[in-house]
Amino acid sequence: MLPYGRQSIAEEDIEAVSAVLRGDWLTTGPAVTAFEQAISELAGGHRAVSCTSGTAALHIAYAALGLGPGDEVVTTPMTFVATASCAAMLGAKVVFADIQEDTALLDPDAVAAALTPQTKVIAAVDYAGQAADYPALQTLADRVGARTLADAAHSVGGSAYGHPVGDLADVTTMSFFPTKNLTTGEGGAVVCKDPAVAQRAHEFHFIGLVRDPSRFELTDEGPWHQEVHEYGVNYRLTDLGAALGLSQLRRLAEFKRRRAEITARYNAAFADVDGLRTPVQRAGVDPMWHLYPVRVLGGRRREVFEAMRAAGIGVQVNYIPVYWHPVFAHQGYRRGQCPNAERFYAEELSLPLFPDLTDSDVDRVIETLLNLIG
Ligand SMILES: *Cc1c(COP(=O)(O)O)cnc(C)c1O
Repeated sequence: MLPYGRQSIAEEDIEAVSAVLRGDWLTTGPAVTAFEQAISELAGGHRAVSCTSGTAALHIAYAALGLGPGDEVVTTPMTFVATASCAAMLGAKVVFADIQEDTALLDPDAVAAALTPQTKVIAAVDYAGQAADYPALQTLADRVGARTLADAAHSVGGSAYGHPVGDLADVTTMSFFPTKNLTTGEGGAVVCKDPAVAQRAHEFHFIGLVRDPSRFELTDEGPWHQEVHEYGVNYRLTDLGAALGLSQLRRLAEFKRRRAEITARYNAAFADVDGLRTPVQRAGVDPMWHLYPVRVLGGRRREVFEAMRAAGIGVQVNYIPVYWHPVFAHQGYRRGQCPNAERFYAEELSLPLFPDLTDSDVDRVIETLLNLIG
């Protein structure tokens, strides 16, 4: 089965991880420091905290923003469940605003209608690798004193309006799962524009330990002392993962180029095909194409999905609207509340897209889909 996404591992990646195994630090050592520095440089110079997954990054980000009971998060239903569930786990109320019909990105008009004085975070998702409309979302957030969060699990390495991903929202979360744009095995990162939020993110992912003596409440203990002011978790990335990530970052531009090339090949093949609709790219955005979400019209998505799988092509569907998950449905979230997202879900089919996909693989995907649709 041709997968829909896959890591690209080179000899230099294997060397980088092996070097860590031969050294002194398996975790929280120099590779983690260097990787966080490199992510920061990629993301506009803001402090980056690495962590164990994109889900952990979302949990850390919401915790660092102080989210809790009584607060509301406005977000998109067209995402992986963690964008919403990590806020709900902290006791916040999740409010879903609909997506734009063409790009599947969070619609600022729908967000505006969902804002209340309790809104603390507007959390957008850079669906398929294209940055959401952060200038509009930031204006809305500023109006009610909320912060913007970019779930950039798909868009690491992209940019918009001249700013890199990581410099577009107050807080940005990333995932380095194997199918994502670069990998650390499992892994993620949180990038924060506000240094105080970044420090809270760091401490939350590091058991809540405070190590700066100038902040100690217990001042008489001794040189070994560290203390906890707020609860935290251990979401630390290992040096093994960080070394892999650092090595992968050296090829990120090449990954981006190849993903764009494959996307263009799909676009050209499907542009004028009745029964299919190709992804829409917004002006001013330079996406890091992570998914190729073609739309299968005429109610045929499931049939086409099954036929593609039967032909050995590992298509996917991204995503079921988050509030359809039973955990949200049982709380009273009703179907029909975000019609654009529901229609998009009904039509969406993610075709294989990853840097090591060959042109002949791409051609086989195209030919198989055209034969099914034709
Ligand atoms: C992959 C993904 C996540 C979660 O990342 P993990 O590293 O798998 O935990 C969150 N949000 C989106 C949009 C994702 O695609």
